[in-house]
Amino acid sequence: MSRWASGSQSGLREANTAKIVDAVKRFGGLTQVELAEATSLSTATVSAIVKELSLSGLVETRPTSRSGRRAQLVTIARRAGLVAAVQIGSRSMKVRLTDVGQDVLADRSMPLPADHAEDTVLDRITLLLIDMLGMIAADADDLIGVCIGVPAPVDPASGLIAYPGVMRRWESQPVAQVVEQRLGCPVLVEKDANLAALAEATLGTARDVADSLFVHASYTASAGVVLGSRLYRGRSGTAGEIGHVQVDPTGSICACGQRGCLETVVGADAITAPLRATYGQVTFKDVIARAAEGDPGCARVVADAATALGRVVAGVHQALAPEVITVGGELTEAGPIFLLPFTSALRDTAPQGRSPRRDPVPSSFGKDAVLVGATIHILQSTDPSRLLEDRS
Ligand SMILES: [Zn+2]
Repeated sequence: MSRWASGSQSGLREANTAKIVDAVKRFGGLTQVELAEATSLSTATVSAIVKELSLSGLVETRPTSRSGRRAQLVTIARRAGLVAAVQIGSRSMKVRLTDVGQDVLADRSMPLPADHAEDTVLDRITLLLIDMLGMIAADADDLIGVCIGVPAPVDPASGLIAYPGVMRRWESQPVAQVVEQRLGCPVLVEKDANLAALAEATLGTARDVADSLFVHASYTASAGVVLGSRLYRGRSGTAGEIGHVQVDPTGSICACGQRGCLETVVGADAITAPLRATYGQVTFKDVIARAAEGDPGCARVVADAATALGRVVAGVHQALAPEVITVGGELTEAGPIFLLPFTSALRDTAPQGRSPRRDPVPSSFGKDAVLVGATIHILQSTDPSRLLEDRS
């Protein structure tokens, strides 16, 4: 039951209140007529509950027009400001707007072409964000910050991708500065695995321990390291770059220029390539979905990748001894087909008595781990007095 429902007078009223709040959060902003349609409640009930919610400060209403008619747009109250979390992946991007209470106001995603370029993607992010803000009758002035997660390490000193090859066509410009100029609010850029690690360490599975590791098994492989309850980035932001640990000295050439990196064995291309002769043109997502359904060939390649990844993570475990290891990213969507061989490799590679105390677990936030971490990163980086300013 949503926390918004507390204080209502009856179970039915509470349930109806929760329905309305959930609909407002899901769609960003709705008129009362739209809310009645979305919740199957009468307009009189919607009107009474919206009035109660706005008196308690949980929602706001403002005039708008729909199909030429004036109406009241209902949104979650956001006097304290909004946070935008952006996840740029290898083949898609996601944008989320939340209030400072981390309640989601709007969520959007968009496919990206392979080998996308910085300038066009940053244009799309800016346009999408402005559109999403418009949908909830807000604008860029309402943003207290934007955090962008990227699938590559970012050098904290320069703001650039830390080394060449891993995110081609993104290497020449500091992304944060470009977006800051366009939106006029603080922008942070961080490796996606670091953000997911931050999410787990703050609100997720690793919240009760000081040292933890998040393994991000996606189109590429990387990890986020939290030591002493703080994100550990290492020199030039490259800590946790497990994708570029050499696992086969005679292997293929990796995007980073080295030979036989883990990524040449567990990355999206490495997973789809061995299936082409038998399965034809398959995508990374197809392979994962089929593996989860029990297709033996797809399950084989996912399990092999999980084993290779588990062996490298075993080395990280030996070096850093984290209490908790969490896994996320598309590859983990294959479920036990991924998790069982990954766990076995992690245990089997450890010296006697030094295997992890706890088995690795899937992310507490599923596909949202990076976005949750991005929101937390902005909130943790924002001066608390900024949140208390009267923005009305
Ligand atoms: Zn490499």
